[in-house]
Amino acid sequence: MPKITPQINPKQHPAADSICGRHPNYNGNVPPEPASPIADNIIQVEEVSKVYSTGRLEVAAVRGLSMNVARGEFVAIVGPSGSGKSTLFYLLGGLTHATTGRVVIDGVDFATLKDAERTRLRRHRIGFVFQKFNLLPTLSAMGNIEIAYAVSGRKEPMDRAYLDHLSDMLSIKGRLEHRPSELSGGEQQRVAIARALVTHPAIVLADEPTGNLDTKNSDAVLEMLVRSNRELGQTVLMITHNPEAAAVAGRILHMRDGQIVREEKGLRSAPPAPAAGIAHRV
Ligand code: ADP
Repeated sequence: MPKITPQINPKQHPAADSICGRHPNYNGNVPPEPASPIADNIIQVEEVSKVYSTGRLEVAAVRGLSMNVARGEFVAIVGPSGSGKSTLFYLLGGLTHATTGRVVIDGVDFATLKDAERTRLRRHRIGFVFQKFNLLPTLSAMGNIEIAYAVSGRKEPMDRAYLDHLSDMLSIKGRLEHRPSELSGGEQQRVAIARALVTHPAIVLADEPTGNLDTKNSDAVLEMLVRSNRELGQTVLMITHNPEAAAVAGRILHMRDGQIVREEKGLRSAPPAPAAGIAHRV
């Protein structure tokens, strides 16, 4: 298995934070691996509230919200602007603290972790997909995937056969040597999905992944998220304001005023199929 030689030292690269959602206060100390999960629910949110304080004003963006996501589920969170979707995304991704309540990801309570530990959990176990792709412009698609793997802190070399499989699945095989500016928006987002999946995250958190794409590319990206869920057994949680995008999920949670007000089944409401061929490492 060839060893990866990142083109950039990720610790020195200013964009390393954005590709792994790293906390700005990260001090470089990497603590031991958090305890193994015991729960079937890979995401547990218990009575969580988030209040932003801006001067004398307080805004309750999330209000006593509880939800669970089972391993292997594809869940969409949908709601109008201002309903608290992004705040929930930040809470689930460990990018902000809950004011009250608990967020447990893969068996680990975020509130019990120090910044460095939380960063490590995030880098190891969460694959982020953002609306704006967040690819590094000076690196090729392959370079973007390699550096994300290097930053993830996994000890074993990147699994080239797995990346090959992902590139096939995402139809980006012939595009890996190109820089983001040479790729369409849809291709950039598919590279971003490969970057998220290559570390074998416990969950993929996608924030408006089709928000910058036309209909054709949106459909392709949604199809890729569905396939990663169906074929790799990948747990996916997608935030969107678009009900059509949300419909591809197995379960749709509707948010309003910082709470989940309704739940419905999506198109993929059947139980997830077991991962075919490709092991889902957590
Ligand atoms: P959505 O993603 O559904 O548009 P947000 O989570 O961004 O919702 O926002 C929920 C509420 O919290 C809104 O009223 C918004 O104005 C407020 N809000 C979001 N971020 C902040 C912040 N950093 N400071 C103060 N208020 C915020």
